[in-house]
Amino acid sequence: MSITQIDKEYVAGTYGRFPVELLSGKGSVFTGTDGKRYIDMGSGIGVTAFGTGDEEWLAAVTEQLSRLQHTSNLYYTEPCALLAKALCEKTGMKKVFFSNSGAEANECAIKVARKYSAERKGADHYTILTLVNSFHGRTLTTLSATGQDHFHRLFNPLTPGFVHVPANDCAALEAAVAEGKIAGILLETVQGEGGVLPLTKDFIQTAAKLARDNDIPLMIDEVQTGNGRTGKLYGYMHFDIQPDIVSTAKGLGGGLPIGATLMNEKMQSVLGPGDHGSTYGGNPVCCAGALSVIRRLDDRFLAEVQTKSEYIFSQLTGAEGIESVSGLGLMIGIETKRPAKDVVMDCMAKGVLCLTAKTKVRLLPPLNIPMDLLEEAIAIIKQVCK
Ligand SMILES: *Cc1c(COP(=O)(O)O)cnc(C)c1O
Repeated sequence: MSITQIDKEYVAGTYGRFPVELLSGKGSVFTGTDGKRYIDMGSGIGVTAFGTGDEEWLAAVTEQLSRLQHTSNLYYTEPCALLAKALCEKTGMKKVFFSNSGAEANECAIKVARKYSAERKGADHYTILTLVNSFHGRTLTTLSATGQDHFHRLFNPLTPGFVHVPANDCAALEAAVAEGKIAGILLETVQGEGGVLPLTKDFIQTAAKLARDNDIPLMIDEVQTGNGRTGKLYGYMHFDIQPDIVSTAKGLGGGLPIGATLMNEKMQSVLGPGDHGSTYGGNPVCCAGALSVIRRLDDRFLAEVQTKSEYIFSQLTGAEGIESVSGLGLMIGIETKRPAKDVVMDCMAKGVLCLTAKTKVRLLPPLNIPMDLLEEAIAIIKQVCK
């Protein structure tokens, strides 16, 4: 049996996989089991920030792997401590809780917001405001936070205490806060799974002001937008706001599973001993990889991300067969005349791996994709969209 046949027989059928078996890769190029070459314009859904098998990341991970791979959170290890320090120094946040995925990073954020609000305002202050068309994860609670009904069907009852407000509707947000008993506001600065839609600055700043004025924790879900993806270290940094809680994952680990929930001065002591935990959280190998990623996301590197973004926008905006281009940095959504799925399949046949988001073609290339490969991939995408 082929890999595809074995997978289809034994792996739970939750994913619509593309008909490609990947064997190996280097940088922004994959090789299939059939020897075919593919340019990576998806980075494993925004995870391999420096591509596949990046030398610096590989050295950090393998060195740690040869020392110790796991200790549990009963002991101190250097990568966990140094990663938390680096994240706090680069954001001004004060404390970090480590987990293993984006959903878990959001679960932690929600627990912090609920405990903070319950202690200050009473246990009936548990409602979390999130946005229509948002995506926050697949656990039952983060699914409840996710403002897309089609993910909810057949999984009821969901976790109670979530209200969804239309994105970029300041009046609706103000009304929802005024109705009261809000424990937290959770939003993505660019709705990724929702179709790569950036929120307006006005809306994000209104949310931040409402949160501050009403002592409501503002949580920014940076699972996809974080770690350089948008051309800033975190997406919120485009909008001149200071969140209380930041959750992140995907690109942070560069390919190993890690989630992080960052808490500011006001939130740093909310969780005490026994309030939360994770057996794998802060795993030294994952943290060593993440530290090598975070250390390289300096201003010069982020400026290069921005330059590549401008190149993609300038090439695709107004091109034949392309209706619109949205996004920030190297998180890009393309509305195509042809169905997105057809465009992605044709790109694949020509050796370029793209993603979709809702009805759009989505690009999340490795942040360090070399310019020549980016040019080659964009030329193919343009040709296929015609
Ligand atoms: C991917 C994603 C998640 C979920 O992350 P997992 O690691 O799959 O649990 C949550 N929020 C956003 C914005 C995401 O893009």
